Amino acid sequence: MLSDADLLRSPLSDLTALARVVRDGAHGRRVTFSPKVFIPLTMLCRDRCGYCTFAKAPARLESPYLTPEEVLAVARAGQEAGCHEALFTLGERPELRYPVAAEWLAAHGYGSTVEYLAAMCRLVVEETGLLPHANAGALFAEELAVLRPVTASQGMMLESLAEGLAAHRGAPDKEPARRLATLEAAGELAIPFTTGILVGIGDTRTDQLATLRAIAASHVRHGHVQEVIVQNFLPKRGTAMAKAAPCPADDLVWAIAVARLVLPAEVHLQAPPNLSDDLAPLLEAGIDDWGGVSPVTADHVNPERAWPALEVLREATEAAGHTLAPRLTLYPSFALDPARWLDEAMRFPVLDASDAEGLARDAVWCSGGEEAPPALLDGPVPVRVPAAGGATAGGAVGEVLAGVALGQEVGIAEIVTLFGARGSDVRRVAEVADDLRSRIAGDAVTYVHNRNINYTNVCTFKCRFCAFSKGPLSLNLRGAPYLLELDEITRRVVEAEAEGATEVCLQGGIHPNFDGDYYLHVLEAVREASTTIHIHAFTALEVTEGARRSEVPLAEYLTRLRDAGLKTLPGTAAEILDDEVRAVLCPDKISTDEWLEAHRTAHAVGLRSNVTIMFGSVEQPVSWARHIVATRALQRETGGFTEFVPLPFVHMATPIYLQRRARRGPTFREALLMHAVGRIAYAGYIDNIQVSWVKMGAEGSRQVLRAGVNDLGGTLMDENISRAAGARHGQRMGVEDLEAIVAPLGRPLVQRSTLYAQAGASASA
Ligand code: SF4
Repeated sequence: MLSDADLLRSPLSDLTALARVVRDGAHGRRVTFSPKVFIPLTMLCRDRCGYCTFAKAPARLESPYLTPEEVLAVARAGQEAGCHEALFTLGERPELRYPVAAEWLAAHGYGSTVEYLAAMCRLVVEETGLLPHANAGALFAEELAVLRPVTASQGMMLESLAEGLAAHRGAPDKEPARRLATLEAAGELAIPFTTGILVGIGDTRTDQLATLRAIAASHVRHGHVQEVIVQNFLPKRGTAMAKAAPCPADDLVWAIAVARLVLPAEVHLQAPPNLSDDLAPLLEAGIDDWGGVSPVTADHVNPERAWPALEVLREATEAAGHTLAPRLTLYPSFALDPARWLDEAMRFPVLDASDAEGLARDAVWCSGGEEAPPALLDGPVPVRVPAAGGATAGGAVGEVLAGVALGQEVGIAEIVTLFGARGSDVRRVAEVADDLRSRIAGDAVTYVHNRNINYTNVCTFKCRFCAFSKGPLSLNLRGAPYLLELDEITRRVVEAEAEGATEVCLQGGIHPNFDGDYYLHVLEAVREASTTIHIHAFTALEVTEGARRSEVPLAEYLTRLRDAGLKTLPGTAAEILDDEVRAVLCPDKISTDEWLEAHRTAHAVGLRSNVTIMFGSVEQPVSWARHIVATRALQRETGGFTEFVPLPFVHMATPIYLQRRARRGPTFREALLMHAVGRIAYAGYIDNIQVSWVKMGAEGSRQVLRAGVNDLGGTLMDENISRAAGARHGQRMGVEDLEAIVAPLGRPLVQRSTLYAQAGASASA
């Protein structure tokens, strides 16, 4: 830890170089911003700060407070523009200075500004899902506590702890002890908290260090300081400090660098991008966040300084070797630990806006939904300049991809890094995956002509993500319980074969009345209709249950199924092969080891199978990596997997989402990366990567075909499981529909057998 004396006498270039090392070590090359709207609930304030143009006299305002309708109108505009945060900015306790404010509050049934603020925060989160961040100044503990159930984070600039600053004359709420007490109370209440310093308002560098050290000490006590804003003073017309000099650029850079060095490394550091003409020095000084950027509202505190367009911010960020990512008003480490940091009432709103890393969902697309996916692969990949300070060009993602180019196998850490790709890094990952696809699987886009037969939706298991099953204890969300007669299965196979299907895919719930022989009877029913159609059937759970109910070893049971005509097993029931996640998603289902053992045994008796992953509900990327590594290890052992099939979680009608305990599936970026990273991680082991068009939609499928995918799966007459969960992409695809997906890519569409024999494949392959 550098002393104040060291910090005060070190050359600026040394400080910034060190700050970058600390920043990169703690936060990598990711720079965040929060897409938000500003809601100036009241511009009245009892303080008279010398630099402020935000606060107005009552005579200059139409109304002391925004009405609920006005608040909602701003929030709704933000919602439509893709914002996640509603930043409530307001003056401090105006009712103590202006009778008109006290009268307005009383007339509307509120005892204080904070009480009205809490009501408006609740309104916004309930009506729009935007996450309120309250910036209400120096509050007492009980006021912070009132706001905690309706906000995802709160904030208050400490500004400066220097006593007697002219800038704060006439501002009782800027009294240092008062503000420190607020910071401390927020920590005691476990509120994710934003604070900061205002540089250039007359304090000295020694004062600034003292302020930063006080913030650091409070954070060490409570862990609640999520970010520190280092803001530069700019004089504004009509204020007492109109003639004061603006904060010199070097003073801002110095303050950012020493903030990075004084604060614990995990605290994020922000400089507002609209208050500096040149953004590069801010990044070079150690920031990792641009703060709130609004596509809808002005910066009401600095109305003369417009927000940079998002593209400008992205270009500046990427030009310096960083990637830009949208975040929520609270940072990931807080969002991913809701029991500690969030009131119960705010946990689902935060989860609902989150991606798997606890950052903000970056588009409205969700799997199975009708919204178009964002175009992630268009536009050139910018040439990376080496980052200042000598960091590797391309950052951690670039390093992993360089290793892949050298033939290195990616492990859990590298896979997690690839899943963190943003912006142009996504295009880089996709390019590497697509190159591997071309070399491993060629240019043909394959599909199998098949029919799904889900013979029952009655199930004794209680998988919390499953909207398909009906049981005595399930939420009976869609459709009635059914069990197909064996004759009906035979009829459907006859019909499928007549339509040209080469495969039937059979899976269903675990009916309480099934014995192990049931699955043999299903195979007989299929074979009665066709001696050649490929039978792709029974999940690891079904065969494990069948063996258990038959009281025979799994190998013997699988041999019986094989001898009765079974050819391959679907990889479903894998969900996420990480027992921590299975304990949440499907606690009574087979474990990771049991799933792996079922497939190992199937491969040993000559049955092949595939790997699926159902992702995007409750888990984080490390679980995806564990899943991939575990299945790759089994493939190394048996060679029995034919393909990897990512299945994005379709959330709409699932019990776990309706119980407000899951995200709304992966983001499109995550879904695309799952296919691309799968291609990279399984290279040399599993040759085929399949997209589920039911979940990804036509346009989404087209994009992932450019990111390592070579297979479109089946034509799937009668797809029921995703539809039960709310997917809208239809129950079947004709060959002409598949052609429409593939045609713009200039690659041939080729029918295959289940085992990937192409064109003219034997139906029984
Ligand atoms: S996922 Fe399968 S095992 Fe689980 S409840 Fe649904 S049908 Fe039953």
